[in-house]
Amino acid sequence: MSIEIRNVSKQFGDFQALRDVSLDIKSGELIALLGPSGCGKTTLLRIIAGLETADVGSIHFSGEDTTDVHVRDRNVGFVFQHYALFRHMTVFENVAFGLRVKPRKERPSEAVIREKVMKLLKLVQLDWIADRYPTQLSGGQRQRIALARALAVEPKVLLLDEPFGALDAKVRKELRRWLRQLHDELHVTSIFVTHDQEEALEVADRVVVINQGKIEQEGTPQQVWDNPATPFVYGFLGDVNLFKGRASDGRVYLDEGMQLDSSDAHGAKDSQAFAYVRPHDLEVERYSPGQNLDAQGRPTGIVAQLSRAIVVGPIARLELIPSESAQSTDNAGDEGLIEAQIPAQQFKDMGLREGETLVVT
Ligand code: ATP
Repeated sequence: MSIEIRNVSKQFGDFQALRDVSLDIKSGELIALLGPSGCGKTTLLRIIAGLETADVGSIHFSGEDTTDVHVRDRNVGFVFQHYALFRHMTVFENVAFGLRVKPRKERPSEAVIREKVMKLLKLVQLDWIADRYPTQLSGGQRQRIALARALAVEPKVLLLDEPFGALDAKVRKELRRWLRQLHDELHVTSIFVTHDQEEALEVADRVVVINQGKIEQEGTPQQVWDNPATPFVYGFLGDVNLFKGRASDGRVYLDEGMQLDSSDAHGAKDSQAFAYVRPHDLEVERYSPGQNLDAQGRPTGIVAQLSRAIVVGPIARLELIPSESAQSTDNAGDEGLIEAQIPAQQFKDMGLREGETLVVT
């Protein structure tokens, strides 16, 4: 089932939680709504589910306006961060619940319920604990059961509100891979809410970045990562260096001295240009006076002092302070710092020391 969100706005008292949100979700797509706490992700999910009403705008399921369709009849499955499984019921009974409470005419026979529940438990790889009670499960197992329970009634739409938010980092990672695989098998139109950019980029077909109740950008994880539309998106998706400069002849000359191909820069307008550069896209070498100049004698890189180096596993994170000539320019990184990431092995091989002068390109 496709979902069309049309100009949805929602206000709580004086607070505008959603501002004119429009979005088309294709049938079978897995969408991540990504944004900081309080940006309106959950409110949008609740409006889609019918748990909340929009002040303005409408939600359509496969073209049909759902405004007057009760939450019960929307055929929507939910999984929340703290999904309360029924404590007094076994795993099997929890998953069977939605089928057992169907109106008599639609209720499957006991044999069909058994077959269906066991099939779902296999799908979430937990058929071996069908007779356990929720208190005998780990957090990750509980969320997988919650998902099986939501899927039992064959929802047309699956809404997942930070389903792995309460789990530790390792389990989260496992479960998001697992969710992706599950979605590839089932193709239920799904909306996944998260404030974790890594999670959104890894799980979703399409990422929708929300900030202060508005959609900032939507696109495939690759598109959003490679071409962030706004400084907010760029910053939210990970560490970034922002440089300013001039664009000419297909090159961008940054105030700090580095040159880039125009295709690597953003907002090139009236010869002004901004370049957002991820730390791992920067390279460093030792500075030696008179070198690192182009044919016209212009510096090809940023001369900077290595102020701090932190090696974590295979990565060395370098914090660099641009040299005096560059400090007068408006580098928008934290306190004018440039952050670069290089392989830890390279850091070792080069024998770099804090306080050394480097050239960043
Ligand atoms: P989080 O990740 O923290 O859950 P979110 O992006 O899901 O954040 P929402 O839960 O949609 O954010 O809330 C958006 C804003 O609307 C918040 O500032 C919240 O306090 C406010 N809000 C949500 N529901 C209500 C309500 N029923 N009454 C008043 N304000 C509300």
